[in-house]
Amino acid sequence: MKAADGQVKPEVYNTFTKSPCASMCMGTEFWRNKYAGLAAQAFNALGVDGIYMDQACSSLACFDPSHGHAIGGGTYWMGGFKTLASEIRQRCVPRGGPALAGEGCGENWLPYLDLMLSLQVSHERYAGPDGWETIPFFHAVYHGYGVFYGNYSSLTMPPYDELWPDKFAPQEPLKLLDRKFSRQFYLEQARAFVWGQQPTIANFRPSHLKDRAEELAYALRLARIHARARQYLLHGELLQPPTVDVPMAELEMSRLSIYAGQQGGLKEFRKTFSPVLAAAWRAPGGAVAVAVASISDQPLAPSLRLDTGAYRLPERGRIYRIDEGVRKQVGDWRGKIAMLKPDLAPLDACLFELQP
Ligand SMILES: [Zn+2]
Repeated sequence: MKAADGQVKPEVYNTFTKSPCASMCMGTEFWRNKYAGLAAQAFNALGVDGIYMDQACSSLACFDPSHGHAIGGGTYWMGGFKTLASEIRQRCVPRGGPALAGEGCGENWLPYLDLMLSLQVSHERYAGPDGWETIPFFHAVYHGYGVFYGNYSSLTMPPYDELWPDKFAPQEPLKLLDRKFSRQFYLEQARAFVWGQQPTIANFRPSHLKDRAEELAYALRLARIHARARQYLLHGELLQPPTVDVPMAELEMSRLSIYAGQQGGLKEFRKTFSPVLAAAWRAPGGAVAVAVASISDQPLAPSLRLDTGAYRLPERGRIYRIDEGVRKQVGDWRGKIAMLKPDLAPLDACLFELQP
């Protein structure tokens, strides 16, 4: 990919070797063939199930006249990506083709990618207190058309690559974070759950099942409920959220370098959050449910106000609670507004299904 001055603009990701990389032009057959060849090799010979396509969902302007595409802007980048995705799937046909995952969310890539990386659920961990607040905007529009995945939600310091210089090696690889940061982990897990993303944790080690049993139990509980509620949390449409009335809480947050070069180390800050997260969903058949997750270690009794009229529900019905074990009736509603006042146990999570 050439800039307007005709030069390649190097990108340096390895902070130790400083070796430069370069973005490749999607408008060239040469690069698409190379990429599809590598992907087919990984799929057909190594047996991988999916390909993570770094920089997919980024579109660049290339000014190289010898590539045969329009100079600068144009449709060639997306056209090239479409051809690349189809080329990969054709070369991998024997087993149905790999799942293709992108590095972000982008409208233009929705037809070609199976998975879209949505790391913003862990925004504070990589960006610190920068004034931005993550909202599920892309999910609100496109949840039914893509699968969102990814989370930096971790209980440890970032991993270290043994090929990096010894002098940067941590004394204790993947050292456990102080438990005062566990509620940040809960917040990241809860966001992914109520916003209908695939359950993900980073840097998992089997020892965490013992050393961080409560945190892992939470992640697993959310994953089990997600598995029981895929008509909402995987295939559903995100509706306007309920109003949640509950006292705010202050959380200890950590900001960490994701690549474990570790220059900089861990930075701490505090942030105020609602300890109860909630989102409303409509399943393809029309049923509506509210996903709720508490990140508090105390029992809570929030009030949730649902605009059942806006959800196209009739004026009366029954409310069921679904958790990892059971589905049971907990109340009913009449009129155009449903009020829920659940008694949430510490670190509780569930769906409230509104049955006309
Ligand atoms: Zn080009």
